[in-house]
Order: sequence, then structure tokens, then C-alpha cells
Amino acid sequence: MILDLVPVPDFVRSHYRKDKSGPLPRRIAWGHPDLVASLVRCYQDGFRLVVSDCWRSAESSRARRAEFEARGGPQLAKRPGESPHFFGLSIDIDYSLALLETKLTKPQLDAELSARGLWCHRRDGFAGSEAWHYNALGPGDAAKPWLAAASPRSTSRAVEARVIDLYGKAFALSTVEVARALASLGYVSGGGTATYEALKPAIRDFQDDWGLDVDGIAGPKTQRLLACLTATHKGGPLPR
Ligand SMILES: [Zn+2]
Repeated sequence: MILDLVPVPDFVRSHYRKDKSGPLPRRIAWGHPDLVASLVRCYQDGFRLVVSDCWRSAESSRARRAEFEARGGPQLAKRPGESPHFFGLSIDIDYSLALLETKLTKPQLDAELSARGLWCHRRDGFAGSEAWHYNALGPGDAAKPWLAAASPRSTSRAVEARVIDLYGKAFALSTVEVARALASLGYVSGGGTATYEALKPAIRDFQDDWGLDVDGIAGPKTQRLLACLTATHKGGPLPR
């Protein structure tokens, strides 16, 4: 699978929030072209959003899940491949700062950002959980086909519809493609003819390693994660 990602311009990145634990990972400097275009448009119109997360790799998500697990609290990180962050279609922003700077209410801010293509996960305008998460669905009316799939409370189904439209075919792996992906990740040795039956132990190992349900069947979630993990982008290897 070739991920459609482009670098976020420096003038946007210079506003990224520095992480308490050190510099932000290099992967955050990448996003889907539509997301980056929307971000640039926001900046040009004076909305200097402070971004704390953007494109997320499967490896970084697994590491984050391990941190939550070690803390013993609730698991707040999505499984690898489940979030639109994996496709560069989402950003997390400091919306409190944006509200302070713009003197807008949260619903007003959300209306301004959605007019430029960034749609808050929450559709109720409340400053609760995930009020920081925005999905790239296109500006104004361009988002309509995706919003048709959204619930009244959240845009998550809308962005999932976009992911499927962009990459759905890339998730439908043949047995040969599953074998190739497992081989490139070191779960089976290359060569030989792959049969589905022969791949089952490797699929189990892979599912176990990545926190998926372990059934030895390369179903949609397993295929999506295999595609994500073996993805490249046009500019070369992706930072992890
Ligand atoms: Zn997010």
C-alpha cells in the first residue's frame, strides 16, 4: 500500500507543541495532502493551530498502548490501524489555546475550521473528550459525501468512510500478499508456495504481537494492519 502523505510546511511545524518528554517525533511532520492543505489554509486565515499529533505509525501506537498498559489505568490509545491518524487524516490540536487567541466559542471555532476542511470529532461543540481531534473531510460542501456517513454526535464514521474510499482496496489482501507482508515483517521466511493453512501460525503470532484477536485468520483488521505496517509513501521510507 502506498500511503498518500506529504510533509507539513515548516511555518506550520514551527508552531507544533514541544513534548514534555522531548522533541516531537518526525512522523508528526507528515499528513494527507487534504489535511495539510486545510492546515495551511487555517494558518493563512490567522488560525495558528498548535498541533500535538498528526500522522501516527502503527509502531508508535503500539508503544503508546504499552505505556497505558504499564500504568494500569484505562486503555486510551486505539489499536494500530484503527485510527484515522494512521492515514494522516487527523490532527490533535490545543483547542483551549485557539479559543483564547481567537476569542471564539468552541462551536464557532469548529465552524471556522470545518469551513477550511477540518471537522471536530465531536459534533456537539462541547469541550470534552476528543474535542481536540479534527478529521480532514474537505472544506464546506466538499465534506458532504463523508458527513452522510457520520452520526449526529461524531465525525468518526465520516472519516472512516474516507479511509475506505482512499485505501479500502489496499486492505483486501490476497493470500500471496498476506504471505509477502508477513515475510517482510519477519513472521515467515521468504520463498516457497504460501497456502492459507500454512500461514495460520504466522498470522497467529502477528495478531498476538499487535494486540489483535488471535484466531489465525487474516480478516479485515489483520489485513488493514498488515497493509499499514508494510506501507510506503512516494517520497521513500516513512519515519516510525
Ligand atoms: Zn486524535
